[in-house]
Amino acid sequence: MDNFYTKTKCDCCGGSLDSCRIMSMYSNECFCMKCKSEEMKKSDYEDAVKKDSEEHVGKQKFR
Ligand SMILES: [Zn+2]
Repeated sequence: MDNFYTKTKCDCCGGSLDSCRIMSMYSNECFCMKCKSEEMKKSDYEDAVKKDSEEHVGKQKFR
């Protein structure tokens, strides 16, 4: 996630991230708005969001 804000191109389609950049819920990839909305259409997207937040909570506990 370190280079999230320095990326200039979408990891999915290679498009410009000038207007908007969004982190993938499935990986540390950085998506443009278009690819993110495609990702959100996936049937298991809600599960991925839930899993992601649970992982963050778990990490904080061990600090
Ligand atoms: Zn894209």
